[in-house]
Amino acid sequence: MRHELQAIVGIDHVRAPGAADLADATEWSGLRGRADAVVLPGSPEEVAAVVAWCYEHDVPITPRGGGTGWAGGAVPDGGVVLGLERLTRVRRVDPAWWRMEVDAGVTTATVARRAREEGLYYPVDPGAAESSHIGGNLATNAGGPHALKHGVTRSWAMGLDVVLAPGERVRLGGPVRKDVAGYDLVSLLVGSEGTLGVICGAWLRLVPAPEASSSIAVACESAKAAAAAMERALTCGIVPAALEYLDDGAVAAASAGAPLFVPPGGVLLLADVEGDPVQVARDHDTLREALEGGDGVLAVAEFAARTDRETLWRWRDGIGLAVIAQRGGKLSEDLAVPVDRLAEAIDETQVIGVRHGLDACSWGHAGDGNLHSTFLLDAADPAQRAKADAAAQDLFALARRLGGTVSGEHGIGRLKAGQLREQWAPAAVAAHEAVKRALDPKGLLNPGVKRP
Ligand SMILES: Cc1cc2nc3c(=O)[nH]c(=O)nc-3n(C[C@H](O)[C@H](O)[C@H](O)COP(=O)(O)OP(=O)(O)OC[C@H]3O[C@@H](n4cnc5c(N)ncnc54)[C@H](O)[C@@H]3O)c2cc1C
Repeated sequence: MRHELQAIVGIDHVRAPGAADLADATEWSGLRGRADAVVLPGSPEEVAAVVAWCYEHDVPITPRGGGTGWAGGAVPDGGVVLGLERLTRVRRVDPAWWRMEVDAGVTTATVARRAREEGLYYPVDPGAAESSHIGGNLATNAGGPHALKHGVTRSWAMGLDVVLAPGERVRLGGPVRKDVAGYDLVSLLVGSEGTLGVICGAWLRLVPAPEASSSIAVACESAKAAAAAMERALTCGIVPAALEYLDDGAVAAASAGAPLFVPPGGVLLLADVEGDPVQVARDHDTLREALEGGDGVLAVAEFAARTDRETLWRWRDGIGLAVIAQRGGKLSEDLAVPVDRLAEAIDETQVIGVRHGLDACSWGHAGDGNLHSTFLLDAADPAQRAKADAAAQDLFALARRLGGTVSGEHGIGRLKAGQLREQWAPAAVAAHEAVKRALDPKGLLNPGVKRP
């Protein structure tokens, strides 16, 4: 196998898998895959040739971006790991037309930086931006704090350069802002977790960068008080760019840089506004009044200077890793619930933790009703791991009971395989499976991932 793949991509770009190729950011969970080879194509044409070879020889293919996924989607189950890390070209930036075309292996942070250099803005800001690839963001339809105002990755994908089974390179969409000619295959591929095709490049939409921004942190005495403050913020007549929350346990994990003290049972809210300087000043005041104007608000801090604001959001980005550092491991699920049920979901996360004898905390994208409900554990202790797996089942049931979803952000991957059929009607599950069969008749594209 390796010799034939080397003939396609070159002798130096096929290797035996190492430990890092067989795991992703869920490594703490003990999830480790197996593969026969890692193949690193240097162009979309080589991606197409690799997929064609694998399809002809019935070899499973696991597309891999930065390996930062939280659902085990890039963890292979045999066959070939198809890494996109050599596809790193920013193909084109058209500042006048607010768009950029990039290879799939360009990092999220590079996309944001290149846009900024042109006075433009790519606002999707998932937390591992220096490592995650834009291809991985597209494949998982990644979100981030600023998805509240700007939407998730799907809102910014104008076109895809993608290899479909059995090895055909196609262009879907492109540098066009509207396209309703066919079924929306761009949207279908976005969020498909490498199970319907391999993304080699994308046209991304950009917008002019906001000139100013400012942030507010609010400590509340309870999830209920935070939910009330959030409701006031969402109904005060402005659109916050971000509205995040962290419960007391999440804040305590990174207490050194925390903007405010949060007492036991309390919740911290972080809000952000963006725009021109006059509008930002006005929106900031409106938002502050809304956030602090109710019961149970303990303290407010404001961040107008750019460096202070950047420090605040960097602290926020580091929460996941700070929580892992508590015990060396965590089980974290990314439920999304209707925003008006968020307080129940925050409180229930704690109740589920107590029921299973686990310390729990949560944080997340409050304005989107998206929680990272988390149980702390020593990953090397199988008993704790078993308890956390049982607790996760309760979290999934909670999401369904509140009218939400088992994944708002990270996808089904391998870790949540089988959960969709609990959430969807049988006919919807059948449609999901029919799409998979139509685009991947041999079932070789990331088998076992996104299984309903
Ligand atoms: C500290 C931290 C913070 C995070 N914060 C967020 C957050 O705020 N929001 C959020 O949504 N996620 C977040 N994540 C999760 C993760 O960063 C995102 O899911 C990201 O989009 C994964 O990109 P990746 O390049 O690392 O993909 P991988 O982990 O390599 O792959 C993820 C999935 O996409 C598939 N895939 C990857 N590249 C391609 C391709 N080119 N073509 C087809 N399929 C492909 C893989 O097969 C796999 O199923 C965070 C992760 C960490 C570690």
